[in-house]
Amino acid sequence: MNTLSITLIETAPATSGGHHHPEISFDLRIDGEPHPGFAGLSIDPGAFVESHDDGEFFVATCGCGVPDCAGVFDGVTVIHDATHVHWKIPEPYALADGALQPEPMTYAEFSFNADEYHQQLAGVVAALQGVAQREEAGEQFSIEANAGISAFRILKWGLGGTTASR
Ligand SMILES: [Zn+2]
Repeated sequence: MNTLSITLIETAPATSGGHHHPEISFDLRIDGEPHPGFAGLSIDPGAFVESHDDGEFFVATCGCGVPDCAGVFDGVTVIHDATHVHWKIPEPYALADGALQPEPMTYAEFSFNADEYHQQLAGVVAALQGVAQREEAGEQFSIEANAGISAFRILKWGLGGTTASR
């Protein structure tokens, strides 16, 4: 059994040069630590929210939002059963320039308590709703990984509500 947590990080805007809006990113930890295979990548909260269903999700992606750009060609395989949510993360997750995925592929495997997983999903949805409300009130943000684009789309389509209510 493993634990997973994902939290919103808000960085204050630079006072001179650089970005002038708060930066929003997400910090994902497995067993309390960032996953080593995700180092240097950005967490896409929209992809995480979509993982309330089984499938393959690019939970960690390039800072620009395009997984291929960071050498990520296979996402995290997510499988739900009655009590647990199972993750298979390819190793390596991001391939170095010109490197080929080893054959057969190898994976790091994790199993999370399903209730705790759904709490994390609901927490991300709530965090994004908070950002969306502040945006509607006129605040502007820089959001890592184009993460906001898929996340806000999900919020607008109401998928988040499905997640929060399980
Ligand atoms: Zn990129």
